[in-house]
Amino acid sequence: MLNGPSHARYDHRCRARDLHVRCPRCHGRALATKDSEQGQSVLISELAGTWDVADWQVRCDSCPYRTSGLAFEALPALFYRLAAGGVELWAYNRDHLEMLGRFLEGRDVDHHPYGWLATYAHKDWLTKKNRSALARAVGAALHLE
Ligand SMILES: [Zn+2]
Repeated sequence: MLNGPSHARYDHRCRARDLHVRCPRCHGRALATKDSEQGQSVLISELAGTWDVADWQVRCDSCPYRTSGLAFEALPALFYRLAAGGVELWAYNRDHLEMLGRFLEGRDVDHHPYGWLATYAHKDWLTKKNRSALARAVGAALHLE
């Protein structure tokens, strides 16, 4: 058994506190946050007591869409997903995407607020070919806003 209980605590999940998701009404960018995590650090561990609390709320940046009381699984899809070199890269939010762009360019992210998530970068993102294609796609996505 590869993922026994003794291994689990070194392998726990982590996510951003604030998520950018795609608005189900206008397909623009919406912000998903949790009341129970306001004032906490920008990264939340699944070991935090708030992980499974169904108090997500979603507020669209561009239309009146609002909803609340959602479980994580019920959230709309993440907003930042881009494909390049045959692989898809995703980010929890704009700052996370910005960190990934730096990381793919080989720049230091140790002191970036989302730098810790660099350890979650998929192996597919980091091959020589995909890495530069994705870095360009991230740069273009950030530049368009
Ligand atoms: Zn909307």
